[in-house]
Amino acid sequence: MKITNTIIQDTVKEVVGEDSLKIIEFLKDKKNVSDFKIAEKVDRDIHEVRNILYRLYNHNLVTYYRKKDRQKGWYISYWTFEKKKIKEVLEKSRKDKLARYTVRLKEEEANVGNFYLCPNACVRVGFEKAFDLEYRCPECGNILNHQDNAKTIDFLKTKIKELSMFNGRIKARN
Ligand SMILES: [Zn+2]
Repeated sequence: MKITNTIIQDTVKEVVGEDSLKIIEFLKDKKNVSDFKIAEKVDRDIHEVRNILYRLYNHNLVTYYRKKDRQKGWYISYWTFEKKKIKEVLEKSRKDKLARYTVRLKEEEANVGNFYLCPNACVRVGFEKAFDLEYRCPECGNILNHQDNAKTIDFLKTKIKELSMFNGRIKARN
């Protein structure tokens, strides 16, 4: 799999959040850039920038080292984007999603036609729970509606198929 700019953006956005995109865009082709310089270039507060950088770091998407500035007496951290990690992070994110959707699908299939939903979407419960609640939402008091979950099941099946195909493709190319 070729790591295109789009793949980088999509992966980072999904795993770390949209607020990290500017930083990644700036760091992409550089090495060991100081946190102060990053903050200046993306025009954001240094604390916000550090918070985002540590989130990226938690997903192994950046590495850093710290050095004491002799004149100013404080520490400066220098950051590098780890492009080669993108693929790993992307695969893990897809696998996690696939696992989550598979569990969800089993639950939905075990409870076909057995869901009750508040019109304000406060709660979604099974028949027994709905009966206990006398079909009233415990949050807002509205009457719970019976929900046909066939659409949810279809949606999950489509997603699982897509993700399985994608995972298969990664394996085939390795
Ligand atoms: Zn409600």
